[in-house]
Amino acid sequence: MLDFASLLVAIGFSAAFLAVILLAAWKTSRRDGFLFTCALGALLIAISVGFSTLDSFRPSSWVLGIAFVLLLAGEASLYGSAAQFRLGTSPWRRIAIATFVSVALTLLPFVLGYNGVVYAVGFMASAALLFLISHQFWQAREQAPMTTLAIAALYLLVGLSFLPRAVLVLTRDGMVVLGPPRNWAQDLSILLVIGAIPALGAMTMALSQIRTVRTHRQEALTDPLTGLLNRRALFEAHESELPPSSIAVLFDIDEFKSINDAHGHAMGDRVIVLFALALQANLPASASAARIGGEEFALILRDTAPDAALRHAEDVRSRFVALVHAEERLNCTVSAGLAATGPGAASTDRVLAEADRALYEAKRSGRDRVIVARQSMELSASTAG
Ligand code: GH3
Ligand code: MG
Ligand code: MG
Repeated sequence: MLDFASLLVAIGFSAAFLAVILLAAWKTSRRDGFLFTCALGALLIAISVGFSTLDSFRPSSWVLGIAFVLLLAGEASLYGSAAQFRLGTSPWRRIAIATFVSVALTLLPFVLGYNGVVYAVGFMASAALLFLISHQFWQAREQAPMTTLAIAALYLLVGLSFLPRAVLVLTRDGMVVLGPPRNWAQDLSILLVIGAIPALGAMTMALSQIRTVRTHRQEALTDPLTGLLNRRALFEAHESELPPSSIAVLFDIDEFKSINDAHGHAMGDRVIVLFALALQANLPASASAARIGGEEFALILRDTAPDAALRHAEDVRSRFVALVHAEERLNCTVSAGLAATGPGAASTDRVLAEADRALYEAKRSGRDRVIVARQSMELSASTAG
């Protein structure tokens, strides 16, 4: 038999240190609120284990009751933290309900004086909470499959190890016990918990890390003003070739510098946002829209014939003109150049360069228009013929 108190002390320290580490991690990554909630759970469990250790030296129903209340509140906090990780919502309501239900069930036999039943119900309530936590991570498995599934499996395993403890205390020790039950299930479960705490802590931190990396990557590919893809994202998506039957359209707002000069930079930004709205309206799901420079935008349309693309680009142009006039009482126009992928290889650079030449042509011939690149016009004529 292992020394029961030493095992409990090991769990207590392990959970307390974990709480400190999670709190430090939360301080550097405040948007991961689930780290704070998880730290709270670890702290409550650490304190609860302190009371259990006290109870193992000098058994007392009161100390046992407090230990269980703290343990269940701690596990409920871990449950809230898991849901917070998954959904990004506030965990407190979930924590309050889970704590209330599990504590009420566990304290009922306490009031009646059956401390053996307190153990049995407490272990079962613990198992139920651990299953709920496991279920949350199972549901979050798409966010970081390996890590969430490993966490879900570990919580499930620990939860399962609480069940024989509940059965054995009733079958071996009875409804009223003189001290903490000692049996193989108890030792096995406690050893498992000692191993699981650092593993769960490391994996919870990894989840935060994975999310941070993902957020940074998302930010690196998004234009902050409009939420459109940025130039880097567009070129990453179409590294060397555009898909067959694609169209590239380049837009450039006309005389934009004069808007900045006459109405200020903020109004310039507002006009850029309005253009992005016009660009995103009626956008096919397969299209990519990007802001590739100050007031320059690119649109890639897939499986689109040049004449359909031209209609689409004209729609964007007139929608923008109407929108800026309606919203800001400004007369502002946009020019565009359109190019289609040829029958051979459709190098992204080549198609964009063609679209850029057409855009230049649109600017030169008086702005406020869409010009189709010559090669693409021939293509259009041949598909029509
Ligand atoms: P054109 O019709 O030939 O396109 O003339 P233009 O004035 O639109 O073109 P030009 O390239 O001379 O000026 C673009 C201006 O866009 C210059 C720059 O100060 C401004 N600009 C670039 N990025 C931003 C931005 O994010 N916000 C604002 N407000 N202005 C920007
Ligand atoms: Mg420009
Ligand atoms: Mg311009």
